[in-house]
Amino acid sequence: MKANNAIGESTLCIQGEPIKLESDPVFEPLSLSKPKASPQCKCGARTVYFRAYNGQSLCAKCFNESILEKTKKTISKYDMLHYGDRVGIAVSGGKDSTSLLYVLNEIMKGHGSKLYALTIDEGIEEYREEAIKNAEKLAEKLSVPLLIASYKDFFGFTLDEALEDRKERGIKATSCSVCGPLRRRSIDLAAEELGVNVVATAHNLDDVLQTFYINLYAGDLERIRWLDPTFRQNSQFKLRRIKPMMEIYEQELAFFAYLNDLPFQSESCPYMDEGIRTEIRVHLNELERKHPGVKYSTLKTILGIASSIQIDSEKSKKIMRCEKCGSVSTGRICSVCQTLSLVSSSA
Ligand code: SF4
Repeated sequence: MKANNAIGESTLCIQGEPIKLESDPVFEPLSLSKPKASPQCKCGARTVYFRAYNGQSLCAKCFNESILEKTKKTISKYDMLHYGDRVGIAVSGGKDSTSLLYVLNEIMKGHGSKLYALTIDEGIEEYREEAIKNAEKLAEKLSVPLLIASYKDFFGFTLDEALEDRKERGIKATSCSVCGPLRRRSIDLAAEELGVNVVATAHNLDDVLQTFYINLYAGDLERIRWLDPTFRQNSQFKLRRIKPMMEIYEQELAFFAYLNDLPFQSESCPYMDEGIRTEIRVHLNELERKHPGVKYSTLKTILGIASSIQIDSEKSKKIMRCEKCGSVSTGRICSVCQTLSLVSSSA
């Protein structure tokens, strides 16, 4: 099983933070000298994946089924989807989001919900085209309607234009700190356009851990509280946001995309600047290599912390709104309005 080269240099964006895929251990040739790896899956077929944190050796069929089952369990545990929901799946064209589209399409059959795919075109020349083509290809194959919306539609400028403007005006903000809030708002606006009541994003277990540490170091309790998967089920939010793959390791989603021959973005974003997320990611991967399962137990702790903050904090009882646009915000002015004030001359 040789997939290193297929994804070795891919770039993904998680909540506006870029991450660079490394060669993950799962893509190394299966080592049967590992203490618990077996050449055969429990069903008797050839092992293609060793799940180190629980000692399971899995064939392709059982691995695929385990990803579908894990996703179903997460949806059910946190009551993420209800009969008749209109679900917008945010598809960037990367491995996680194409896997999410594929998996939700499989497990929602006969559920009574309607699925849509939504893709945001930031306006990055010679980069976004490939991801959009991948999203179109998969959505068409699965017969899921796809909406492609752009920064140009919503804000009147492309990311290329906004970043050029930032440079000319000598503004110090990083590319990703400009792009991230605009992407999140674009997803909300596209969801509204589609008339969906739920947005599913492809955040995986690693993303949740990284986000927790970023906010821990930034002292942002509000954003840690938002990691509680039941938080957005709160009726004060018009749109429910769900992360059905938040309990699945990133490396397993990469393997899933590879195994199922899903098309995903292979080029890096030209604006990618490595941030603290990448350092945290490398550190967590190293810990997991030495102590399989540590990421999973950390997730449990994080979810416990996030839900406790929701219960304890007085502030959590009222939702704050941006004074400019009225969107939910952690401060007086939301990050989108702050960003627009930096780059508004592009419009
Ligand atoms: Fe991702 Fe590029 Fe936007 Fe950064 S600038 S958040 S790397 S698309």
